[in-house]
Amino acid sequence: MSSMFCTTCGSLLIPKTTPYGKWMSCPNNHHQPELNQTSIALTSKNNQQAQRIEVTDDKNHLAVHSHLCTKCGYNKAELIEISCSYSDEDNCYRMKCGHCKHIDILEGKLR
Ligand SMILES: [Zn+2]
Ligand SMILES: [Zn+2]
Repeated sequence: MSSMFCTTCGSLLIPKTTPYGKWMSCPNNHHQPELNQTSIALTSKNNQQAQRIEVTDDKNHLAVHSHLCTKCGYNKAELIEISCSYSDEDNCYRMKCGHCKHIDILEGKLR
């Protein structure tokens, strides 16, 4: 499942289980009317394209760095470099898990 954002407020959607099924839902409970329509259109209109999108969604191609996710244990993560305000030389690195998208923050230089 790829990251999706609320069409109303832009919040990251979270999986929500309801009596009617399980779907991505805004934490602020905004309705996401376009989500279902999109998936129906993709499967019926162009099956090949839908499958291709599914494949790219499942795998984060930027997650090529060896990093053990502290949340799910997946061993590949996307490296995101950010500057630390309190240091001129060292940077902070964020490792975004290629599986669950959990972000671990590492300090200092990478080897
Ligand atoms: Zn929202
Ligand atoms: Zn993870």
